[in-house]
Amino acid sequence: MKPTSSTTSSKLGPGEYQPDVAVTRLEDLPKPKIIKEQRNEVQRTCPSCGKLAPRVRVFTRPLHDVGDLASGRPRELHITYSQHHCSTCRTYFSADLTDIAPRGSHYTHRVIALALRVVVEDGLPYRAASWHLWRDHRVFVPFATIQNWVEAGGEKGNGTLGNRLSAVGTRRLLRLSRRRRTV
Ligand SMILES: [Zn+2]
Repeated sequence: MKPTSSTTSSKLGPGEYQPDVAVTRLEDLPKPKIIKEQRNEVQRTCPSCGKLAPRVRVFTRPLHDVGDLASGRPRELHITYSQHHCSTCRTYFSADLTDIAPRGSHYTHRVIALALRVVVEDGLPYRAASWHLWRDHRVFVPFATIQNWVEAGGEKGNGTLGNRLSAVGTRRLLRLSRRRRTV
């Protein structure tokens, strides 16, 4: 029997329109797919003195990543990482996660780079960029967060974001943020 247009989305053909629902509350999002990663070691080299430092604690850091398009669900990395104590320097340090996400960020570099591209290269306004990220990449980023990233990317000394933009992107970004500031 031929399925009617009201049957579910599993067999949508190309060009078939399926409206998406606007997400206004975080708790309404579909449950994320959890991907576990380990940065948990018994001992690590102290970044200051180079001696081996034992693990003293273990933490888990959740990070929003680009979503899983096959299931339409968001994706979250749960990184288990170790904190170490160097008895020589008398300091604590943690496993480096900066290759995955900037310090203090709730989002991976992948998400930030995608958001910047959508704003800087495609010229989408922040709200539209936020909606695009959810609709096409299944990652929910409040538009104010995207705005912070774009503005931070134009600032001097922010290597984390700046490095991830091409030279062309940075020039355009600088023009963009200058224009925005004058409005
Ligand atoms: Zn040390």
